[in-house]
This record gives sequence, C-alpha cells and structure tokens, in this order.
Amino acid sequence: MLAEEEFFSVQQVDEGVFLCRERFYHSGNRANIWLVQGSTADLVIDSGLGIWDLAKFLRNRHLIGEKPVQAVATHVHFDHSGGLHQFENVAIHANEADALESGDNFETVTMVTNSEIASEWKADDYRVIAVKPTRVLTEGDIFDLGNKTLTVLHLPGHSRGSIGLLDEEAKVPFSGDAVYDGSMIDWLPYSSVNDYIRTCERLLQLSAVVKKVCPGHFGMFDGKRLHQLATDYISNANACHRVLSGCIKGIASVILRGHNTSNLPCKCLYFTCCCCYCFG
Ligand SMILES: [Zn+2]
Ligand SMILES: [Zn+2]
Repeated sequence: MLAEEEFFSVQQVDEGVFLCRERFYHSGNRANIWLVQGSTADLVIDSGLGIWDLAKFLRNRHLIGEKPVQAVATHVHFDHSGGLHQFENVAIHANEADALESGDNFETVTMVTNSEIASEWKADDYRVIAVKPTRVLTEGDIFDLGNKTLTVLHLPGHSRGSIGLLDEEAKVPFSGDAVYDGSMIDWLPYSSVNDYIRTCERLLQLSAVVKKVCPGHFGMFDGKRLHQLATDYISNANACHRVLSGCIKGIASVILRGHNTSNLPCKCLYFTCCCCYCFG
C-alpha cells in the first residue's frame, strides 16, 4: 500500500510557490496543482481528481498546516475540482457554485478511464464529490495571504466559471484552463467561443506585463508565449471553427450525458477530442 507522499510529485518553482502533480494519472487531462504560501494563509489552486488525498499529502510534507488553508478551483472540471472535498475552505466562481454543490458530473465533464490510472482502481466508480463552497467568487475578489494577494479574473470561454488568479506584484497569473501551452478547448458543454475571444483579448493586455504564467496543464511560459497563444485563438476563431466547435460540443454533450448515466464507452469522447485537435 502506497502512502500519500508517493501519490504526488512536488517541486518548488518560486519563493512560496509549489507545483504538484498526480503521479499515477497518465493523461493529457492531468492538471497542475499549485500551492501558494503566504505569511498569514496558504492557497491551493486546483485539486486534481480527488482519488488520492492531496490535503494529507501537503500536510505530511509540512507544506500546509500551520496557517489557514484555502482551496480554490480555477473551474469546476473534474481534473481541477475533484479533490476539493478534502479541504474545509473551498472557493469557486459563482457561475459554477451550483454544479459543485450538487455534484453535477455533467458540468464537471467527468471522464476518466481505467487505463489512465496506474494503480488498482475502477473508473466506473469515479465521480466528483459534491462540495458546498464556503466562498463564492466574482471578478475582482481578493485572496489575502498576508505578504501576497491574488486577484480573481473571470475568464470564461473554456467553461462559464473559469477564473485566473493574478499575483499582481509578482506579475504571475495562475490561469487554469483559460490558457495553457496547447490547444484551447472551447467545445465542452458550457464553453463559448464568443466569451473565449473576449478572454483572449484580455489575456493579450495581460501579456505585456506578466513575467510568467502558471497554467492548468503542462509547463509554465512567459508573456510572449501568452501573447502568441491568445492571438492564435482569436485569429482561428472564424466561422468554420465555430461550426466545427458547435458540432463537437453537441457530440461531447451527448457522450457526457450518456457516460454519466449509463457508462457508454469513454473512447467515443477521446475520438472526438482527437478530431478536435486534428481539425480544430
Ligand atoms: Zn477544463
Ligand atoms: Zn483541465
């Protein structure tokens, strides 16, 4: 039996900033989990699947525990919100608070397969556990960690409640899935191309000042790359892209509804994803 310490990797990326990853989840959906330590409080940004005990891992490593801890999901998707139930103080954007509280595994786009998990585990049993948020966020809200403050930026498009958290002094945004160094996904049930374009316009403004971006997936990148990613999305979001995105959204919605009620084969969605990546 493995201890919690072995279920996650952790690396320090800056002073008081740590990146954790789930070691036994082998999937492009594996999210980055960020810990920002402040002088009076700590902030856990995103929480992974929730299969393994992140809170216990962080406590055992003495990374949290001495100060109040706040967990926040950059959005309600399962790869970011699944571990929130392990924390006492949980925050999410107002647009997705109901989905989290009711355990709506359609809006969380819950989709995990046995083959992605390198341990004895049954994907059929996996669900995002309902959590009542203790804090509901809107644009401009602040997380005060003492020597650091992070400001909530509402960045919809990928999902309706997607947020970024901006450390203005350090010039570092934690961007969730609003932007990462890969194809932006705008075809999930509550995605919106129009919202995503507005978010990218905002990211363009931000790109002039940011030092580095701590994204929801993959590696960190600088303001220049942020500018490129946002520009690419806006210039690709033409009529053809909208039609394709709309079609995939319809298919993905049907599959997700089926998966979360009657367990249709997950491969369908991955096929859809591949189509999106190839042609989107
Ligand atoms: Zn997402
Ligand atoms: Zn994600």
